Amino acid sequence: METCCEAEFGLTHGPVSAPWSVCFICICFFSEFLVLFGMVFPVLSAIEFFVILIDSITKGSVEMKRNREKNFTKLLCGSLLAAVICFCAGCGRTVKYTSANTAMGTFVYQTVYTSGEDVTADVTGLINGLEQDTLSWRIAESEIARINARTGSGEGFVLSDNLRADLEVLREVSERSNGAFDITMHPVVELWNIDAWAAGQGVVPMQQTVAGAGEIQDNQPSDGATSIILPDQKQVTQALSHTGYEEITIENNTLYLPAEMSLDLGAAGKGIACDEIAEFLKESKVSGAVISVGGSVLTYGRKPDGMPWQVAIVNPLDTATQLGTLSLTGEWFVSTSGDYERYVEVDGIRYHHILDPATGYPATSGVRSVTIVCDSGILSDALSTACFVLGVEDGMELAESYGVRALFVDEAGRIFMTESMRGIFEEAGEQ
Ligand code: AMP
Ligand code: MG
Repeated sequence: METCCEAEFGLTHGPVSAPWSVCFICICFFSEFLVLFGMVFPVLSAIEFFVILIDSITKGSVEMKRNREKNFTKLLCGSLLAAVICFCAGCGRTVKYTSANTAMGTFVYQTVYTSGEDVTADVTGLINGLEQDTLSWRIAESEIARINARTGSGEGFVLSDNLRADLEVLREVSERSNGAFDITMHPVVELWNIDAWAAGQGVVPMQQTVAGAGEIQDNQPSDGATSIILPDQKQVTQALSHTGYEEITIENNTLYLPAEMSLDLGAAGKGIACDEIAEFLKESKVSGAVISVGGSVLTYGRKPDGMPWQVAIVNPLDTATQLGTLSLTGEWFVSTSGDYERYVEVDGIRYHHILDPATGYPATSGVRSVTIVCDSGILSDALSTACFVLGVEDGMELAESYGVRALFVDEAGRIFMTESMRGIFEEAGEQ
């Protein structure tokens, strides 16, 4: 998910939405005028006051004394008025904050417009909290890790309300994609050691060495990696025998999972994070934001200039370039799954991180990337993974059944999209 973020963090300008822009410009002019007026008035009063004061001291007439008192009152009122006007105008002032850091094992880029405090550190904290408390299978205290530690015990695991709701959504995606999306793929994900690819370690401690292995083509630089060791068919079949979303049972908020099975929400976690960020922003003074968590992007509210958010889609055939941009206004969730996000290449074969639950091997559906746009983070993330495994035809059908916008890029670089996507997508180089 890592490499696409910067490009997806699109902040270029798109076509102007005329009425909003005009309104916005008028408001800006008015507030600047108020501030100027508020400053000028007391300054003039002060000058007048001091001129009369000097006059009254030198001449000392009763008339001058009266004038002095009158002007002092004027100065006081002017200053008060200025303070009120400046305060009111300042209240509506929107400040832009940006941040770039890592969380959830990926890059997080934020641009936030707010009339309140900088919330970017809170957003990063929220993502880290979600990872640590709920989603990570590596952190022993997280909910997923505790579920995985208890499989087969017969005791069951009492789910939090949030995770239960998430699992309901994900189960439905599994059912409607005929198992192309499956959160029980964890034993196979671990076998392929996909995390090590992401970390750029490259050396996988398994028995089977692939002939000719030795070159890492991962998106992140490797640290002294010398060889790639891939699992053999027997190991894949063995790991695959411990998968199957149908085996997950949830009764009265308690989850039961057979022994040897385990969960991995890697295909939906970044989308879940975007959902939580959107809820957090609603409680804040943020008026607009675009935040990317790996391959999942949230657009929220408005840009101060009234323009739509521009989210770039990476060209999966040449990741240094953009395929095009999406123009989005308001709250939207965009997720991309691509074979360029995490992979190793061995003997000219690319092994990427999206596995086909039917084979246990990286999906070979002929698709290089899928982008989903909809009003739910968890759904956009889960569906982009599911559609990648399904390929153009079945993936398009699934996307349409959910009523979400979808864009596929196949191995030849051809673009396929739902009708609804056409209205918001502009291909690079098109005008
Ligand atoms: P994404 O990048 O959102 O498409 O998610 C890919 C990640 O989800 C991988 O790194 C795995 O951890 C996990 N995964 C791989 N294949 C599947 C699948 N078919 N269904 C669910 N999760 C998967
Ligand atoms: Mg996904």
